Amino acid sequence: MITAKTSLYGLIGNPVDHSVSPLMHNTAFKKLGIDAVYLAFKSENTEDTISALKTLGARGFNCTMPAKSDCAVLCDKLSEEAELTKSVNTVVVEGDKLTGHSTDGAGFFLNLKNNGVDYDKNILLLGAGGAARSIAARAVIENVPSLTILNRTVKKAKALADSLASYDTNINYGGLDELPEAVKKADIIINATSYGMGEDKSIVDGSLLRPDQVVCDIVYKPRETALLKAAKKAGCKTVDGLGMVACQAAYAFELWTGKEFPLGEILEVLEKN
Ligand code: NAP
Repeated sequence: MITAKTSLYGLIGNPVDHSVSPLMHNTAFKKLGIDAVYLAFKSENTEDTISALKTLGARGFNCTMPAKSDCAVLCDKLSEEAELTKSVNTVVVEGDKLTGHSTDGAGFFLNLKNNGVDYDKNILLLGAGGAARSIAARAVIENVPSLTILNRTVKKAKALADSLASYDTNINYGGLDELPEAVKKADIIINATSYGMGEDKSIVDGSLLRPDQVVCDIVYKPRETALLKAAKKAGCKTVDGLGMVACQAAYAFELWTGKEFPLGEILEVLEKN
């Protein structure tokens, strides 16, 4: 029930009408009996929208495209990952101060852990866009031994590798033409490009894959992408992108409320959605 004391949370970006975040957070508030509501706000101007949310006393909000990098500039403080990626997807509001976080990478690795995957291994990351940057930042914070970043636009892979060079992880980068060689050396392969989103084509040729490899796709529409189908056929363990959606929300929810997110129930809700 909405009361005179209901706390306000939300999502800003454009578009936002496809987002499952309101469904996830409002389900979690209800389940835990928290007097709060989460709404989606289509934003034409990130600065104005954030100012409006502060005026209304919002306790926290998520940012999606194209608000993520503008939001990083508008925050008073950034987490280590948000600082590394210069991108924010979760903001905690305390008084008039904003702290920005980037929970996609942490969500990705929590989902791996929940799927029983040991990620202290050689990781091949495909992509250097927003999601890939967040996964790469968390990978070095988690101290993975080796990370290879391949991207269609090589200079973006190089910029990402350079930005993480001060960490202990051994980092290589290159273009997608290096994919066959890189797949051979990888224990865990992650598709963090939008390749395969809404279409039945795989960024990795299934004949390159071995049964001892773990293959992850962060694309979650379709849930079983062509890459994951090919990986299953090759006998690999596979991890799809839906768990990451719930896990990045779990981190945001816990930052806002200090309470544990009902992850299992939220995953069931997402699966039915
Ligand atoms: P983004 O910032 O726009 O980056 C897109 C990435 O995909 C870039 O690396 C781009 O390469 C690459 N790419 C696009 N088309 C390609 C093609 N035809 N061939 C090869 N590479 C291609 O997008 P993003 O925010 O990182 O999102 C990427 C995907 O992850 C989307 O499908 C999104 O829905 C999904 N995602 C899932 C979650 C989750 O929780 N499961 C979270 C965030 C995002 P260039 O740099 O060369 O353009």
